[in-house]
Amino acid sequence: MVQLAYNDVLNMLRGAAKQVKASHQTLSKLDSVGGDGDHGTTMVRCMEAIETAMAQAQDRKVITLLNNAGWAIMGIDGGATGPLFGSFFVGMSEAAEGRDSLDTSSLANLFEKGLAAVRRRTKAQPGDKTMIDALAPAVDAVRKSAEAGAAPLDALAAGAKAAETGAIATRAMQARFGRAKNIGQKSIGAEDPGAASVACIFKGFYEGANPHA
Ligand code: ADP
Ligand code: MG
Repeated sequence: MVQLAYNDVLNMLRGAAKQVKASHQTLSKLDSVGGDGDHGTTMVRCMEAIETAMAQAQDRKVITLLNNAGWAIMGIDGGATGPLFGSFFVGMSEAAEGRDSLDTSSLANLFEKGLAAVRRRTKAQPGDKTMIDALAPAVDAVRKSAEAGAAPLDALAAGAKAAETGAIATRAMQARFGRAKNIGQKSIGAEDPGAASVACIFKGFYEGANPHA
């Protein structure tokens, strides 16, 4: 597969929803270390918003699908999660303008726009123990795969692996943003819940798009 078509993008979103739902308890448990313990629940609600957006998508355009999904997530209250993840999807949709299918380079463009949109909403930098610590390396890995001429699925696999590695690396970090900031050094040792969610989403993107998964 050299291009991802609309149905592949649908399957990526379905895959993300599946992974997040399977990790509901784990994500909430991670959030109970330094937050209010609801991150899994909030993420599941974000994924349900995506599923509603998928069901309502009529024009079979990637841009509409991602834009609707993003705005639906943006409307999920419960802290930082909705606006940050929502802007990721809305940002991706901007790069999907006029595209019916995505090669690896377009996929990298999508993710880069998504990351840029998240970064416009927060001053968090890599190393601050946030979702950025999983998202930035994942996006980077997809871009590097594109430059190396990899197929979209291989790029998604590399992105998923980098997101997971990035999420695991947050264990050693001290939270400087979000509710976990309040517990200072006590945040060291556990994975950042937002970074763990990014790892779930990218794993789901890959598995959803992979017909052999
Ligand atoms: P929620 O209650 O919505 O779960 P939290 O404050 O518990 O919000 O944060 C959840 C995750 O969102 C964090 O683990 C972190 O990855 C990310 N996050 C929170 N605030 C910020 C921020 N200001 N900048 C970047 N990421 C953030
Ligand atoms: Mg929370």
